[in-house]
Amino acid sequence: MTGAVATGTLRLVLFGPPGAGKGTQAQLLKERLPIDHISSGDLFRHHLSNGTELGELAREYMNRGALVPDEVTIGMVLDRVATMPDGRGFMLDGFPRNTNQAAALDEALAQRGQRIDRVLHIKVDDDELIRRLSNRYICRKCQKPFTRDPRSGEAPKRCDDCADGGEIYQRDDDTADAVANRLAVYHEETAPVLDFYREGGILADIPGEAAVETVNGLVLKALGLTAEV
Ligand SMILES: [Zn+2]
Repeated sequence: MTGAVATGTLRLVLFGPPGAGKGTQAQLLKERLPIDHISSGDLFRHHLSNGTELGELAREYMNRGALVPDEVTIGMVLDRVATMPDGRGFMLDGFPRNTNQAAALDEALAQRGQRIDRVLHIKVDDDELIRRLSNRYICRKCQKPFTRDPRSGEAPKRCDDCADGGEIYQRDDDTADAVANRLAVYHEETAPVLDFYREGGILADIPGEAAVETVNGLVLKALGLTAEV
């Protein structure tokens, strides 16, 4: 055990552009720490498919082709955080996306005498992200990422990680043009959030271009944990 950090109660925010390897790092952290991975995308799908009040509200906006307002997204995340067993840690993924959400999160945690311990910002250059994403495939069931085989140029058809092999697909927004667009939006949206956490002194910049294991080592180090080598 590593002394200083109560690893099971860590409250983290995972930050990084699409393609930075957040999902992979989240998976590795989950294997290492007894904390929950709270993905805003998963929460959305859960609320929509269960027809909850928030899910129905979100659907109304989506049906009109409108953006789902912050309050709805914030409500979904705060609901989830509020039902965490006492003292159990979590890592948020895909939230907060703007300073309004970040402030709402801080306030809700403060009411429970809690706070975000660390914001892990995985940084990768845009050129590298475009290269990675246009080669990226994902398991529909477990979200495990795959890439094309460099020799055959083919992506695998079935996931080797799910019990019954989820279907592997490429997202429509993973084409090079779509990626460049997503990155522009990402930078514009998230720069203020990064500043918000940097001012709070809890932002850790992690260079994310190295191999998965190396990045994982840097993540653990930023959390005051040593990598098992
Ligand atoms: Zn899978």
